[in-house]
Amino acid sequence: MARRKQSSHAWVFVIWGINGIAIISLLVVSAFYTTSLRASAAKGSNQTPRPGETRKIPPTSYFLPTLTPNPFYTPPVFETSTPFVLENGQRPTIIGFSLAGRPIETYTFGAGEKEYLIVAGIHGGYEGNTVALANELITYINAKPETIPTDVTLYIIRNMNPDGEARSHDVDGRVNNNGVDLNRNFPSGNWTADWDRNGCWIFRPTTGGAYPGSEPETRSVMSFIHSHRIEAMISYHSAALGIFPGGVPWEAASKRLASALGKVTGYPYPPIDTGCEYTGTLADWAVENGVGAAVDMELSTHKETDFDRNLKALKVLLGFMP
Ligand SMILES: [Zn+2]
Repeated sequence: MARRKQSSHAWVFVIWGINGIAIISLLVVSAFYTTSLRASAAKGSNQTPRPGETRKIPPTSYFLPTLTPNPFYTPPVFETSTPFVLENGQRPTIIGFSLAGRPIETYTFGAGEKEYLIVAGIHGGYEGNTVALANELITYINAKPETIPTDVTLYIIRNMNPDGEARSHDVDGRVNNNGVDLNRNFPSGNWTADWDRNGCWIFRPTTGGAYPGSEPETRSVMSFIHSHRIEAMISYHSAALGIFPGGVPWEAASKRLASALGKVTGYPYPPIDTGCEYTGTLADWAVENGVGAAVDMELSTHKETDFDRNLKALKVLLGFMP
């Protein structure tokens, strides 16, 4: 009895051993089968893609849709307070965005080797007539391209502070959305966050920025100027103080440009001295960074565009050799 018992035990182990091996190999085979099914299914769907939906993208949309939307993405605001569209003309180049995501638009005319630049609207809606002037110039040149000499390229940044312009067309529209005076935010040699307000604009609190070049609007214009070789530029302001040459102290070529512009426009040059010290201005930074000549030029009022006077100014600018 004892022997039979022993041998039957041995058989039980052998049989369960075979069963075990069979079960394991079945599992392995079924696992392989499932994965290969999945792979072939994926292959099949790649081979027969369904056509995508046709999608109408608005002309001002510059971002293509992504497959996986980023939950932290804030869509840019594609509008300006005074939407400007050039009928039968070019679309602007976007050189950057304001704090609120408004585009900073640049129009390019001509294709010559000598590059000139006009910047308007640095003080937003408070000096909104400079933007209106830029729009008038853009419309005029588009209709009369012969205005631009063949050896010249002209860039017009029509509204450098679109948030300020959208906010209001009075004293509240001067600064950007951080409360920064953009014409005191450029990293020129004399930049300061604060300044003596004697003789300066005092109607609202404002600063030169957290640090030089802190604002996106400033950096957009800086990188634009860095990527071009600008012979001469006008930064438009209002109102009435005249023409301020760039440079600390005023640089010779900029003084020459200011004087020539003063003669044709009648705007005061030398400018009216209110005792204000200007720091971190676009014109100062520009001449310190390779622009041949630069001026801040003020229109005669906060309302009029002085178009005829500034058409003459345009001719002086485009013929100017620094
Ligand atoms: Zn101004």
